[in-house]
Order: sequence, then structure tokens, then C-alpha cells
Amino acid sequence: DLSGKTAVITGSNSGIGLGIAWELARAGADVVLNSFTDNEEDHALAKEIADETGVNARYIQADMSKGDQCRRLIEEAGRCDILVNNAGIQHVAPIPEFPVDKWDAIIAINLTSAFHTTAAALPIMREAGWGRVVNIASAHGLTASPFKAAYIAAKHGIVGLTKTTALETAQEDITCNAICPGYVLTPLVEAQIPDTAKKYDMSEEEVTQKVILDRQPSKEFATVEQIGGTTTFLCSPAAAQITGTTISVDGGWTAL
Ligand code: NAD
Repeated sequence: DLSGKTAVITGSNSGIGLGIAWELARAGADVVLNSFTDNEEDHALAKEIADETGVNARYIQADMSKGDQCRRLIEEAGRCDILVNNAGIQHVAPIPEFPVDKWDAIIAINLTSAFHTTAAALPIMREAGWGRVVNIASAHGLTASPFKAAYIAAKHGIVGLTKTTALETAQEDITCNAICPGYVLTPLVEAQIPDTAKKYDMSEEEVTQKVILDRQPSKEFATVEQIGGTTTFLCSPAAAQITGTTISVDGGWTAL
């Protein structure tokens, strides 16, 4: 039961982040949603969670590519018992052609933002005497694929940050772990299907089974509810001695 706790989930107006927010709210936590936009729909998502689950939920705009805004998000949240670093973007290109601005944006959003939010959140967790940091890495935090240099570098980086955060908090009631999802059907993945289909000259259905899910032995996408459930588990008493490690939710990808 996470009632009385406040969870801040970066990049949570869509996909996995939104799924995590729902599961944490169902477990009783108050939730703070975030993205870089400030639309009516963003605030409506928070209202829907609050109405459905009875927790307090709000949306705070902050651009995770900017260090000062990452830190402001945590300050504005006020409490931060659970920090989920989830915001992430992808770009696919061979290294010599990889756009420098895409490299910089991916490293900033997928990796550096977690440094800033963690730096701002740890003093608040220490004050409260309890904290859980959950970093959303990827199967690409443990293995590589061609053409995703920035993403894979950032995801391997966040696994390293996870271990360091765990060591710096090891003797406190604070843990830090990374979840490594395989493919989850979210807007981030859906956006890759048309290009990949074109590249392999296959239909979108064929490319999904034969190329995208090629690495995922289960041949099924993981769901945002499963990533949310894993996050909730990491915040439960059963997980109090789990720290500095990774949990794969990848249908067997990293067993291959
Ligand atoms: P998504 O595109 O649905 O969600 C990404 C979220 O990040 C969105 O809410 C978006 O608004 C937010 N975001 C992007 N740029 C931002 C910025 N500058 N500031 C604040 N928020 C920003 O994608 P998703 O699949 O839900 O991805 C969520 C996380 O899960 C990412 O870190 C991604 O790398 C990781 N992941 C996804 C998969 C997958 O198969 N979908 C697999 C492994 C890991």
C-alpha cells in the first residue's frame, strides 16, 4: 500500500510513464505527471487518474532536456517519495550520419535528466527517511543493436547511474533500480514501425513479427501495465533489499 507516498514520473503523458502512473495510483500513491507540453489534455490525464483512483494527481510541465527544469519539477512536486525516471526519446541512424542535435537531445532526456531529478530528490527522500528511485532503462541498457548509438549509450549510462545511486544510499531506506523493458507497444515503438517496414520492404504486420519482435522470444509485446506492476513491486516491502540492479521485462530478449 503506497498511500501517503508521492510519486513523480517523468515523461508520463503517454506510454509507459502513464501506465506506471496509473499502477502507482491504483496502489494508493499520489502521482505527479510530467511532460514538456502544457495542454488541457495533459491536465485531464491527471484528473482522470484522481477521479478513478481517489488519489491526488497533478500534471507539472517541465522539459527534461533542461537541467534546471528537471530540478524545478522535483521542487514543485514538494514531496518525492518515489521518483520514476522514464522520459525518453529515440532516433535511428548509422553513427557517421547520426545527427549531433539528436545525440545531444537523447543523452540529455534519456540520461542527464535522471541525474538532475535524482540530485534534487535524494535530499527530500532523506528528510522523509524513505525513498524509491526507479529508472526506466531498456533491454538496450544491457545489449546493443545497430543504428541506435545515442539511445543505447544513454540506456547503458542510466544502468550505471542506477548502481551509483544505490551505493550512495545503501545504508538508508532508499533503493534505486532500473527496469529493462523489451518492446512495449507505445507511441515510441509505433513510430518506428513504418520506417522499419519500408527499410525491410515488408508490411507493417510482417515487420512487427519478424523484425521488431525478432529479439523478443515470447513474440509478444510487454504491456505498460506490466511495467507499472514491476515499478509498484520495487516500491513494496518485498523489494526493500533489492537495490542497484536491473529487472528485465523483455519476454526473454536478454536470455538469447
Ligand atoms: P512514449 O513516446 O510513449 O513516451 C515518452 C514520454 O516522454 C512521453 O510522455 C513524452 O512526452 C515524454 N518526453 C519526451 N521528451 C520529453 C522532454 N523533453 N521532457 C519531458 N518529457 C518528455 O514512449 P515510451 O515507449 O512510453 O517510453 C518511455 C520510456 O520507456 C523511455 O525512456 C523509453 O526509452 C523506455 N523504453 C520503451 C520501450 C518500448 O518498447 N516502448 C522499451 C524499453 C524502454
